[in-house]
Amino acid sequence: MFTVAAGYRDTLKDHHVSDIAQQWDNILAATSIECGHCHGPVSPPPPGTVDPHYLCLNNAFAVCAGAVMPALALEDYVAHHLLGEMAKPAVAEELTRGLVQYMELEQAAQQLELAEMEDRADAPAAAIDAKRAELRRHRRTERYLMDEDAFSPRWLAAWWNTMDARWKQRLCQIFFTKIELRAGPAPDSAALHDARIILHWRARI
Ligand SMILES: [Zn+2]
Repeated sequence: MFTVAAGYRDTLKDHHVSDIAQQWDNILAATSIECGHCHGPVSPPPPGTVDPHYLCLNNAFAVCAGAVMPALALEDYVAHHLLGEMAKPAVAEELTRGLVQYMELEQAAQQLELAEMEDRADAPAAAIDAKRAELRRHRRTERYLMDEDAFSPRWLAAWWNTMDARWKQRLCQIFFTKIELRAGPAPDSAALHDARIILHWRARI
């Protein structure tokens, strides 16, 4: 199980990740969230709901009624811890390696596709241009990942801000086996730990 280095989280807080993630974008859509009391499913209302909350749907015990949290608050907490984990040197290195490997395979496949298109006399010029643009985007992303500041807290905060919700969902799915929500008092707003939320980290990413 990973433990999050408090120092990284402090740094992340300085970069106001929470201010960035103001809009509920359902980053936990692909992550299993359960009630910490009855272990039944916890679910937010459908996207588009005003002031969405995660809450125990099972309500097996009286205490279940307390297992409820604004969707933004839970997402924000998860995002802080996730980015704190990604900023750890060993995790960052592994992530860089995995992502660069993936990018290289993707690029090789796309280069092959481009070469085939260029060889064909009937390939539309617009399709060839689109493929070239896609390859350029890939190379740019790869260079971005090779940056020595990649996965630093500042880099991560900026990256999280521009990242597609689909990628955030995928990252949550990669890092957590499940998340439990329990009843209890909300901690002080500056607190890094919230006893109501139990993050189950995957042993390896
Ligand atoms: Zn429950």
